[in-house]
Amino acid sequence: MDKQKMIEEINRLKKEKNAVILAHYYQEGSIQDIADYTGDSLYLSQIAAETDADIIVFAGVHFMAETAKILSPDKKVLLPVAEAGCPMADMVTDIRLTNYKAKNPDRVIVAYVNTTAKVKALSDICVTSSNAEKIIKHYKNDKLMYVPDKNLGAYLKEKYELDMEVWPGFCCIHNDLTLEHLATAKAKYPNAQFIVHPEAKLDLVHKADFIGSTKGLLNYTIESDHDEFIVGTEDGIIHTMEVNSPNKKFHILSDGLKCYDMKLTRLEDVYLALRDEQFEVEVPEDIRLKAFEALDKMLKLS
Ligand code: SF4
Repeated sequence: MDKQKMIEEINRLKKEKNAVILAHYYQEGSIQDIADYTGDSLYLSQIAAETDADIIVFAGVHFMAETAKILSPDKKVLLPVAEAGCPMADMVTDIRLTNYKAKNPDRVIVAYVNTTAKVKALSDICVTSSNAEKIIKHYKNDKLMYVPDKNLGAYLKEKYELDMEVWPGFCCIHNDLTLEHLATAKAKYPNAQFIVHPEAKLDLVHKADFIGSTKGLLNYTIESDHDEFIVGTEDGIIHTMEVNSPNKKFHILSDGLKCYDMKLTRLEDVYLALRDEQFEVEVPEDIRLKAFEALDKMLKLS
């Protein structure tokens, strides 16, 4: 089937089955273009919580589809590529977190949304990179443990002077960025501003003209008077930045800024997911209820 025919079929199936397609900003541009909603984890989880659709096709990675299922248990949630995961989410397991909690019962567990449902179920509250700064202020006087991203954790800890331990996980895409990458890009594009996601290491974050979540970076490029940017986050967002600011220039900080798992989804996978209703994501109800509490608390404070 050619691309145009496949897009028509996807649109027909969406209507027929009352389905909605959510796509993360890190998906390929062609997937973002056919989605009903494109956004970051926070926005997409809000959409998942509110939608009237019977089927949610989540073009993203497993923890995102799982989050949609936790928030919308009556919907059928489909992940177009069953094996699309997030290496960072797998760096904290429910067993290890249970052990940590037993030894540190006084610490409030703050979980990045990039975690499994089981880990969310063991946590007091979730955050995304869009709302982490806002939410963490409510816990300023608590003893905290932040899981699993050591870089975002270190950024929050330093900025808000928190009594916070940080799990040693990381995003293999952002964590690989170095000061050398920045020096090379700056030499090539001396007039560009450097903007970065706080999943990058702190030494690099300290050099940025602007630090923000994927959505935060996007908004900054739209609103800023500057017209050229070196972008330190996954390269899928460049597509959206270019669509929103066609007269501005965007340079990815490193060619390595491609999330392998996010880039697994093809148009055909979305089509097949819809046609065959395949790769449904399920969460056991006892886990879902506990994970829901942590997510719901986050959504209320967002
Ligand atoms: S970009 Fe990093 S945090 Fe996001 S899904 Fe990929 S590995 Fe996980």
